[in-house]
Amino acid sequence: MNHFFCSCGNELYFENSKCLCCQSEVGFYAETRSMHVVGGETGMRRCANGSEFGVCNWVIAKDNPYIYCTACRLNLVVPDLSRPGNLELWGKMEVAKRRALHTVLTYGLPVLQEEGDVCPPLLLQFLLPDPGCQVMTGHDDGLITLNLLEADDAIREHNRKSLNEPYRTLLGHFRHELGHYYWSRWFEHDPAAGEVLPAFRELFGDERADYGRALQSYYANGPEPDWQLSRISAYSTMHPWEDWAETWAHYLYIMDALETIKSFGLQMRKGRADQSIFSKEKALLPAPFEKKAPDEMLVALHRWANMSPAINELALSLGHDHLAPFVLSAPVVKKLHFIHCMIERQQAKTSEAKAKAKVSSTPSGAGSGQPPVKPAQRGTVSNPGGTMSPSGLAPAPATSTAPVPMPAPAQTPMQPQTASR
Ligand SMILES: [Zn+2]
Ligand SMILES: [Zn+2]
Ligand SMILES: [Zn+2]
Repeated sequence: MNHFFCSCGNELYFENSKCLCCQSEVGFYAETRSMHVVGGETGMRRCANGSEFGVCNWVIAKDNPYIYCTACRLNLVVPDLSRPGNLELWGKMEVAKRRALHTVLTYGLPVLQEEGDVCPPLLLQFLLPDPGCQVMTGHDDGLITLNLLEADDAIREHNRKSLNEPYRTLLGHFRHELGHYYWSRWFEHDPAAGEVLPAFRELFGDERADYGRALQSYYANGPEPDWQLSRISAYSTMHPWEDWAETWAHYLYIMDALETIKSFGLQMRKGRADQSIFSKEKALLPAPFEKKAPDEMLVALHRWANMSPAINELALSLGHDHLAPFVLSAPVVKKLHFIHCMIERQQAKTSEAKAKAKVSSTPSGAGSGQPPVKPAQRGTVSNPGGTMSPSGLAPAPATSTAPVPMPAPAQTPMQPQTASR
């Protein structure tokens, strides 16, 4: 995560909506990935989920036709706020969601549905389980479901212990589920998926294996023995899709942490810059990435190997558990390199598409400037614990059904304190 400053010089956190020093209203502007002052003559306004419910600190340009920010336009179903406690749980979910999205936006990965997109839109629903209605966190063809109760610290801690998952966080959930979305985008809906599927199968296994049976077997028999030799987590052994999602989440986890380290100017430890922990030869990939040298990925992993013991010690000094309880085996390094190459592949495609759009743009302005972004289609979702969100839609056209109004927030979420306070 980047290190932000207010115009008054005070440090700001990514989550801040107010500078506690000069009292300016501030927010995060995704287009430039920076903090902005909001209101007045600034040309910026708050996302409606921020101004109405205090659960979003992202801002949008005043001339933007949408009332929600990029992150909130993905919400298909939000919690029923008339139920006590739901606002707080939803707020925690939104904090984790924005962090996960910040990383993928930084990489320039597609998030909002664009004209001509053949992939189903990325959407989110936050559901509360009811007696007789279980909610499983998961992904299904673009739609990510989050069990709202995972935002309850006591419940998540109980699940973490009972499922024997040393690392179980809200941010981790979002990263993992986004991994499923990009898998589906790149290996299922991309007409050129055939170029990369054989490599995926060679590294992660054949995803055509029966998922239901794999799930049943995992919970009945536990993970495969010695999973540490080739996987990042026990859950990765469940199915190749889960191995991808877990490794993907780990890629984002390392890259985000390294960005934070760099942005705060933290020094690598002297004398511990061993660049040979991870073997170059073992990180080489099958076609179509056989010519891609793993140097960039390995530099990042060596930096991480240099810093993560210090981070663990720091956490222990502060009375917490290890923050980075992972071991990177050679097959995991290779899979991380594959994910790195898939991200670069997407970036190349996006640049190509942008260049094409520029060439085909006419003097009248068609295709120039902001690409027209269609709001995601909203279907009727049966949701026992939630309300249909009007997410993304600008003031509804006269012919459409009016969005279901949501009750006012019962409380204003706390401002994260700046480091200087
Ligand atoms: Zn300030
Ligand atoms: Zn928002
Ligand atoms: Zn999964």
